[in-house]
Amino acid sequence: MGTSSAQPLVRMTDVSPALEERFFVLGGEPPPIAGTNLHARVGSPCAGIILINHIEPAELAAVLGQAPDPAVPIADFEHNSPLRHDFVGSSLNVETIAELKHRFAPVWRRLAELPFRAKREERAELTMLRLAYSRDAPIEAVLTPGSPLIVEYPLLGTAAGTRRQLELLADLDLLHRRHFTRTHACSKCGSARLHVYEACPGCSGADLVEETLVHHYRCGCQEPESRFAQDQLLVCPKCHRVLNHLGVDYSKPGKIVVCRACGAANSEPLIHFVCLDCATVTPTEGAAATDWYHYDLTDEGMRALRDGRLPRFEIACLLEHGTHAYSPHEFRLLAAEEMRVARQFQRSFSVARVSFPNIEADRHALGPAGMNVAFRHAVDAIVETVRASDFVGVGGATSVIIGFPETAAADVRDTENRIRKAIQNAVVVPLELTVDVAEGDAIVEMLAEG
Ligand SMILES: [Zn+2]
Ligand SMILES: [Zn+2]
Ligand SMILES: [Zn+2]
Repeated sequence: MGTSSAQPLVRMTDVSPALEERFFVLGGEPPPIAGTNLHARVGSPCAGIILINHIEPAELAAVLGQAPDPAVPIADFEHNSPLRHDFVGSSLNVETIAELKHRFAPVWRRLAELPFRAKREERAELTMLRLAYSRDAPIEAVLTPGSPLIVEYPLLGTAAGTRRQLELLADLDLLHRRHFTRTHACSKCGSARLHVYEACPGCSGADLVEETLVHHYRCGCQEPESRFAQDQLLVCPKCHRVLNHLGVDYSKPGKIVVCRACGAANSEPLIHFVCLDCATVTPTEGAAATDWYHYDLTDEGMRALRDGRLPRFEIACLLEHGTHAYSPHEFRLLAAEEMRVARQFQRSFSVARVSFPNIEADRHALGPAGMNVAFRHAVDAIVETVRASDFVGVGGATSVIIGFPETAAADVRDTENRIRKAIQNAVVVPLELTVDVAEGDAIVEMLAEG
């Protein structure tokens, strides 16, 4: 008797099938549907979200933000198309509920296979990976004329900053990019809803007409044919002689574009954009281009999902990409040898330590994924900047050490400037770094610091 009365209690606290079957309804009181619980509470486990009214993206985001699993499937019964959804229905009833459950089943299976785990600050990125995993689908970009950026990812739904997060995940090798398209932005409002036209280089007008060019041999005059036309004759506008025979008096060397507004004749019109949102005209070279990609989940991405975290920032791992990176122990051995050679033959040898002292502040400013990418680029820049004879090692969790044979500390300052410049170019955000340089016995002290 004791065990049988305890069992229901265990099931209640466990994720029981009954709880899993609960749906969360957004947009009002749902009609009663036999055999289906539509009253999951915010923040408690639910099998899916059902939208039965017009829902603002922020409203759904708030619910998903508190959901134990932010990748639960969504059924849309009100054409909330910019929101992500796995099922679209017209009216909520027993039949459509059965249909959506059928549609959700494979998603449920995959979600159950890999329970969601994420730290608060990595939740958004891991949710993107989880959506790709659970839907067993790439994160496809599509053209959406309704949005100013004109590209969206229906799998993820509309949210600000989506592209930046996807790009970070791709930089971390958690997603693989496939090029989709390139958009251009209005120089005033940033909208990508642009209309393209050929413009007169003289007046930017679009009233262009293609004409045949006429070349009068005798005087060298070369103008569009319309400027020669007088009644039925061709009369040179420069020397006023009549042109009689093609090939004898004159030739037609090609076509030219003439502007009917300002009269300018040009062989190459310009390409301009007009913004459909604010009517500003932007020349092609002034319209910032953005490349958009489809993204596929990689094995690394799957590992991040399983671990429930993004790859951790580790100088050691980053340096493995590089040419020659030594562990602290190996570096000490190499440095000791170089110091011995330097003493014996009166040569120079210096060591520089590049540290990133504001890891915590940078992490806060860039987010964990952003910081990881920034550091990866910074370390690559360091490795690329040093000479082949220099050697790079891991200085600790957050610093890189570099050995400079045949180089005095004063000369390393040049290299320091090059490293700073290379990092500035490689990393878009200002990353705080300090460079300490030592030679002679000071090297021993520096390496002893860790
Ligand atoms: Zn605009
Ligand atoms: Zn013109
Ligand atoms: Zn002439």
